[in-house]
Amino acid sequence: MASTRTNLTLAFTGALIAVTAALALTLWTVRNASLYRDVARYAVTQADVAATLVQDAASAQKAVIVGPNTPPETQIVTPHLRTLLDAFPDYLVVVDQLGVALYLSTMMRQLPEEVSDTLLARISGLPNDSAAVVSLPGVEELLLVSRQVSDTTAGTLGRVIVGVTTSRITTLPREYRIVLFFIAPLIILLAGWLAWTATGLTAQRISKINHDVAAITDGRSLHRRLSMDHAGQEFEELVGTLNAMIARLETSFMGLRRFTADASHELKTPLAVLRADVERAMTDHTPPSEQLVALEEALQETTRMADLVESLLTLARADEGRFDIHKEPVALKPLVQDIHETAVILGEGAGVTVNFPFTADVTVMGDPTRLRQLFLNLVTNAIKYTPAGGKVELGLGLHPDNVTFAVRDTGIGIAAADVPHIFERFWRADRARSRMSERGGFGLGLAISQWIAQAHGGTLTASSRLGRGSLFTVTLPLPARLPEESPAE
Ligand code: ADP
Repeated sequence: MASTRTNLTLAFTGALIAVTAALALTLWTVRNASLYRDVARYAVTQADVAATLVQDAASAQKAVIVGPNTPPETQIVTPHLRTLLDAFPDYLVVVDQLGVALYLSTMMRQLPEEVSDTLLARISGLPNDSAAVVSLPGVEELLLVSRQVSDTTAGTLGRVIVGVTTSRITTLPREYRIVLFFIAPLIILLAGWLAWTATGLTAQRISKINHDVAAITDGRSLHRRLSMDHAGQEFEELVGTLNAMIARLETSFMGLRRFTADASHELKTPLAVLRADVERAMTDHTPPSEQLVALEEALQETTRMADLVESLLTLARADEGRFDIHKEPVALKPLVQDIHETAVILGEGAGVTVNFPFTADVTVMGDPTRLRQLFLNLVTNAIKYTPAGGKVELGLGLHPDNVTFAVRDTGIGIAAADVPHIFERFWRADRARSRMSERGGFGLGLAISQWIAQAHGGTLTASSRLGRGSLFTVTLPLPARLPEESPAE
C-alpha cells in the first residue's frame, strides 16, 4: 500500500505534467496559426513581386508569353528577367496561358524529374489568383500561391506560381526542444521534489500524533496530553480534539475504576456479615434462638446485596441506553397522594411530620413505576436525613411549561461544597456513618433518581444548607396535548 505522501506527490507531479503538456500544445497551436499567416503573407508577397517583374518585362518588350517555339526576341522570359527571377529563394514557376512552363526557379530545377513533373501538374491545375497546400514525396510541404500576369493590350499572358515551404512551421525549433525536453522536465522534477518535501513534513506530524496517541491510550498514560505548536490550524484543531477525547476517556476510565472499587467495597461488608451469620447459624453449640437471629441477619444482608445489585443493573442499563421506560399518561395527584401515605407511616417511625398541603391535578407522559421510584427515593431520603421533630413537605406544581414535584425537609442539610457531588455514584456525605447506621444507603439512589428524571426529558435539582434542610425538585415536561385538568386545590 503506497503511503499518502507518495500518492500526493505522484498526483501533484502528474497534474503538473498534464498542465505543462496542455500549455505546450496550446502555445504550439497558437504559434503555428500565426506562422501559417506569416508564411502565407510572405508567399503572396513573393508571388506579387514575381508577377510584377514578369508583367513589367512583358510591357517593356511588348511581347506575349507563348510556347517554347516563340522567337527569343518576343519571349517574355528574357535572360535579364531570368537573372532577376533566379534571385527568388523559393519554388517559382512561370507558365503561359496554356499552362506550359516558361521558367523554373533554381529550387524547382534541383527537384528530381518525376517530382518536378508531378508538382508542375498540380501547379497547372491551380486556378488563377488562388492558393493551395501540396505535399509530395521527397519534397517538404509547400504553400502554393498563383498570380495572374496580364497586359492591358495583350490580355492574360500567363501565371506566376510561388511555392513556399512550410517546414519551419512544422519543425520544432531548437529553443522549443530545449524548453520542452530539458527545462520543463527539470522544473517538474524540482516541483515534485518540493511536493515530496512538503508532504514529508505533514506525514511526519501525522505519524508523531499517531505515535503519541498510541503511547497515551495504552491505558496508563491517560493523564498525558498531545502537544503540537505552530503546526498550522488543522493540526492544532486535530490535537485539540484528540486532547478533549483523551480527557473524556480519562474521566470515564477513572469513573469506571472508582465505580468498580466502590461496588466491590460495598459488597465486601455485607458478604463478610453474611458469612459470619451463616457460620454462626451452622455452629452446633449455638442455641436455636441465636441461630434464628443469625439467619434473619443473613437474610437482611442478602436483601441489601440484592438491592445494590438491582441498583447497579439499573445504572448499567441506563449507561448503555437500554432504558426500560414505558411511557403512558400518568396522573400525578393520586401517585403523590399514595407516596404521601407511605411517607406518613415512615415519618411516624422516625418522628418526622410529612405534609402534602396542596396539589395540582396534572397528567404527564411517563413510566408510573419509575416515577414512583424517583419520588419515593426523594421522600425516604428527606425522612432519613431529618432528625425527629423535623418536617417534610411534598408539593406538586403546574407551570406553563412544566410540572414540578418538590420535597422540602428541615433536616441535616448538605454542605455547599458537597451539593455538586450528591448525584455521583456511591457518594455519601458521611460514608462511615451512613453505612454503619440503620439509615445506611449505597449512595446510588440520587444517581438513579437523576437518570429517571432525565429519561423523562426532565431534571432533578437540589438546593441545601447544612443544618437548615434541603429542597429537591423534579421538573417534568408537559405532554404535547394536555389532558383535561381540574384547578389546583
Ligand atoms: P443514600 O442511599 O446514601 O441515601 P443517595 O444517592 O440517595 O444515597 O444520596 C446520596 C447522599 O446525599 C446521601 O448519602 C446523603 O449524604 C445526601 N442526601 C441525600 N438526600 C439528602 C437530604 N434530603 N438531606 C441531606 N442529605 C441528603
